[in-house]
Order: sequence, then structure tokens, then C-alpha cells
Amino acid sequence: MTQLEIARKGNISPQMEAVARSEGLDVELLRQRITAGTIVIPANVRHLNLLPCGVGEGLSTKVNANIGTSSDFGNIDTELEKLQVALNAGADTVMDLSTGGDIPAIRRAILAASNRPIGTVPVYQAGIGAIEKHGAIVKMSPDDIFSAIEDNARDGVDFITVHCGVTQSAIDRLKKQGRVTDIVSRGGAFIVGWMLHNDRENPLYEQYDRLLDIALEYDVTLSLGDGMRPGSLADATDRTQVEELITLGELVQRAQDAGVQVMVEGPGHIPLDQIETNVRLQKALCKGAPFYVLGPLVTDIAAGYDHITSAIGGAIAAMAGADFLCYVTPSEHLAIPDADDVREGVIASRIAAHAADIVKGIKGARERDRQMSLARKRLDWEEQARLSLDPEKFNRVHRQRSTAGSACSMCGQYCAMDLVGKYLGAGIKAGKC
Ligand code: SF4
Repeated sequence: MTQLEIARKGNISPQMEAVARSEGLDVELLRQRITAGTIVIPANVRHLNLLPCGVGEGLSTKVNANIGTSSDFGNIDTELEKLQVALNAGADTVMDLSTGGDIPAIRRAILAASNRPIGTVPVYQAGIGAIEKHGAIVKMSPDDIFSAIEDNARDGVDFITVHCGVTQSAIDRLKKQGRVTDIVSRGGAFIVGWMLHNDRENPLYEQYDRLLDIALEYDVTLSLGDGMRPGSLADATDRTQVEELITLGELVQRAQDAGVQVMVEGPGHIPLDQIETNVRLQKALCKGAPFYVLGPLVTDIAAGYDHITSAIGGAIAAMAGADFLCYVTPSEHLAIPDADDVREGVIASRIAAHAADIVKGIKGARERDRQMSLARKRLDWEEQARLSLDPEKFNRVHRQRSTAGSACSMCGQYCAMDLVGKYLGAGIKAGKC
């Protein structure tokens, strides 16, 4: 049974217990929200070493890191290193977006090495397989797509991105409207290319029940992809994007009716003043289903720094109600990320998620900041490192450029905390910084 089916029967699963414990949430409330479809626990029945993670209403904002090979860089060891870097940096989930090398072998290695939920985009395997077998992505068959989905599910993948809302009607709307950047979703482009070449409806839309059957069998959470997401601020919140979202809302309902856990993916490139609207629209059209945003990136011109661009957008999206942030790395729009990019991307997204959790009222979030401030006042460097989002960087920078005494080298002997603390009687912890 899926977590949704278990919850609907009024039962509590070990996964629900674990999520409730880690979030400090009443498990019955968690069960009710899973029943309502506003929380999902991506937990494939075959992913045995999994530490369950909940996504949705009232839970801390989660962060996903994308890794995976490309056609130019295809090395399992490199991806396993990125996986560890992502997990060590605090990613809640990881998506393997491999499109190069032995895709199933890479996926299985990542699944075996991860105790956190793993997501994939199975149409990549189908499309790359079609190139190898028939010379072109557009020659994949609907059976190839469903067979790749089944492979991923059988291997233990916890959530899959499926671009079910890319319909002929959405393509017509896109053509009529005209866009600056047409389609920027890789999976969306595979499907659109196939639909245009074969002049047929999207198999993931047309045979949605077939997809639901697979998801039901393995409890794979569907992450309904936004193949029509805007790839530039100029295309944000346009008719094509909104049409796809309306379709996704209908598909959310069908998945939930079938007992399948489902969340919805969102943009993309969105200006600051449209982010809240996008979140509210998704929540209204998808009946509160968890919202998984890709960024959003709030400007198009910051390549090299898009982890910052997306953290700005992610914080605002999460504050408005988005539940799950897909990180963006500094190499977005430029190259496949390396391990350093992965690390920076995860930390940037975690900053965004935590900043939002403070105002979402997530248990313990604001208190952690208060404790950090108290530790700063005490010049308690150990405690500050423990509470910081990136203890490794905290310790490295603090030690590399140290000063005599208890302060840091920013103000040295003129440390305001130290000077004022002495006069106000704060207990400064002795020790060299
Ligand atoms: S030296 Fe300056 S920056 Fe460092 S702890 Fe003291 S007041 Fe803060």
C-alpha cells in the first residue's frame, strides 16, 4: 500500500512515525494531511535503507540537489562523490538526472548509496535509449517510456518527474502566444519533440492510468513536471504556463483518487513580484498538493551566481507556501555542476529554506537563530559552528584568519561583543578564537 492508502485507512506507518518525530509534529495530524494530499512521504517500498522525509503543509521546507551525468561527463564515481557532498551539505533529497553513460547502473549505484529519497526523470532513459536503438529521441515508443518508468520504480526510486501536463492543447497555446525562450525543460523538450514529430498526444497524459498503476504498485510519488515552465522572466506566468498548471491540477486529483502520492513542480524564471501569485495559483488549482519549485530564478542575467538568484526566489516562494526547493548551482546555464558547485547550491537553498521556515513558524527554526545570537554574544565559537548551516566553512574561515583573544579578526581587540559584554556583565567564554 502507498503512504496515502495507509493514511486513508486511518493507520500510521513507520515512515509516518519517523517523519512526525523528526519534524516535531503530531503523527495523527501528519496522517490527516497525507490523507488530504497536502503532505507526501516519497518512500518507494523497494528503497529499503531509506530515512523517510515528508514534504508539504506544516513541515520544514525541503531542499533537493540535482546530480547526474551528461553526454559529455559520464562517470559513476564522480556522481557518487556529488551524492555524498550533497548529503553532507544537508540536502533532503537527491535527483539523479543522468543522461550519459550507463543510466540504469548509475541510478542503482546512487540508490544503494543513499538513505535519503532519490528522484529521477525516467523519460531521459527512454529518450537516450531511443537514440542508441533507433537514432533519435522522437523514435521512442510509448512503451519505451512506460518501461523506463517501471525500471525506475522497480529499482526503488522514490519520486519521478513526469511531464504529464504537456498536451497538444498546451503546445497550440505556446505557438499562438509566442515566447522568448519557448521550452527549457529537458524532459518537456523530449516529450514536445516526440509529440510534434509523431503528431500524437503525450503518452503520459493519454495513458495516465497506466502511470498511476506503476506508481501505486511501488508507492512512487509522482512529481508532475512543468515542461512548459518559463525559461526567462519575459515568459513568466504566461498563458502556456497557466494552462499546464490547470491540467496538472486535474491530474493531481486523479492521482489522489487512485491512492497515489503526488506533488507539483513549478517555475522556473519568475520576477520577484510574481512569485507569491504563482504559489497561490498552484495551491488553489492543485488543492494544496505540495509545491516543488525549481529555483525560482529572479533574474536572467546572473550566470555564475544563480545559486544566489534562486535562493532569493526560493526564500520568497517558500515564505508564500512552497514546500520543496530544487537547488540551483553556480554553474547553472554554464556547465554541468562539479562537487563544489553541488555543495554551494545545497547550502544556498538551505539558507532560503531556513529563512522561510523562520516566518512559516516551523518548530525550532526561530529558536536556532536566537541560540546563535546568544552564542555570538558569548563569543562561543564551538556553539556557533554547531548551529551554523555550514559548520565546515565556519571553522575554516574562522581559523584561517584568527586573532589573539576571544574575538574574531574582523574587529580584533575592538570587538564590540567583547567590549560591551564586559561592561554589561555578559559571560564571555574564555578561549582563543
Ligand atoms: S570581532 Fe567584531 S565581528 Fe568578530 S565577534 Fe567581535 S564584534 Fe563580531
